[in-house]
Amino acid sequence: MAAPPFRRLVVKLGSALVTSGEGTDTAFLAGIAEDVAALRRDGTEIILVSSGAVALGRSLLALPRSARLDSKQAAAAAGQPLLMQAWGRALAPHGLVAAQLLLTAHDSEDRRAFLNARATIAALLKAGAVPVINENDSTATAELRVGDNDRLSARVAQLAGADLLILLSDIDGLYTADPSRDPEASHIPHVAALTPDIMALAGDALTEGLGTGGMRTKLEAARIAAAAGCTTLIGSGAGERPLARLLSGEARSTRIAAEGSPARAYKAWIAGTLGPVGAVRIDSGAAAALRRGSSLLPAGVTAIDGRFARGDCVRIVDENGIEQARGLSRYDAEEAARMIGAKGADIEARLGYSRGDALIHRDDMVLR
Ligand code: GLU
Repeated sequence: MAAPPFRRLVVKLGSALVTSGEGTDTAFLAGIAEDVAALRRDGTEIILVSSGAVALGRSLLALPRSARLDSKQAAAAAGQPLLMQAWGRALAPHGLVAAQLLLTAHDSEDRRAFLNARATIAALLKAGAVPVINENDSTATAELRVGDNDRLSARVAQLAGADLLILLSDIDGLYTADPSRDPEASHIPHVAALTPDIMALAGDALTEGLGTGGMRTKLEAARIAAAAGCTTLIGSGAGERPLARLLSGEARSTRIAAEGSPARAYKAWIAGTLGPVGAVRIDSGAAAALRRGSSLLPAGVTAIDGRFARGDCVRIVDENGIEQARGLSRYDAEEAARMIGAKGADIEARLGYSRGDALIHRDDMVLR
């Protein structure tokens, strides 16, 4: 497969694709696993967002299809292990390990939870695992639910800093009208912006049978992704090797353009939406290093002002009290105070553990 110009992909697979009859669709999962292995050989990182727990659990427990939350939650609890076993078995022949993450809306809305999930996904990808993510349906209450895996996958794309989100569906993209009813309906290959006119095209008619998403939730997901600097492809999951065919352009899809890059969107979030809660004072050497694009290391820190928790946004001020940058601290204020002046291995000696050498990593920092 030709290397796509994308670095990190999130692929959303709906229940209708993942399940077949009473169980998982092993042929479909095997095809996706082959695609995943080929993409990874090309250096692309892949995260899967897989539905299917509720459908599998319902068959296993012989529960009727019902919209009741407790019934869905019970079904998800029984089905999720089956789903993961199936992914584990599909990926194993390629030497790949499936790693489960069950998220709730809280994980993408709360800053600390967001950073935790982000760090876990990064560590899994670095270790060569394939994160297989679903919503934590069994415990999420109505207010805590994302509710559908289209939106969940967009939030995963945002927190993983992905540059491409692929929503595999039972239809090969967006049409000017419902193609099953209107012979004049034409396929839309490219959407530059999700205007109200485009949103209106989704209607409510094109819903999938088993899952909860339809074209509308897909466009809403694409909107979240676009704002996070991530392009979305909506395409069909039918047939062999659907990812390879979509990425090569052999299979058609609707591509929804991103606004900027994931890194820019993330930094705009830090710069614009978070009120800083404390400050780190640094010496002139550290200030110069930040200007050159370095992370903030404790060796250059002279004092810690105020109280802040891990993940909070803090101001980084120089010897003259001028704010040089702001960013998300990897340590809380008390830890940061104990780390002042520490170099590399000293951090672990002083704290008894280390979350990395940087107090504030350059990826989590914006210069003023
Ligand atoms: N998380 C649910 C499941 O695994 C499905 C939600 C959805 O498909 O949108 O069954």
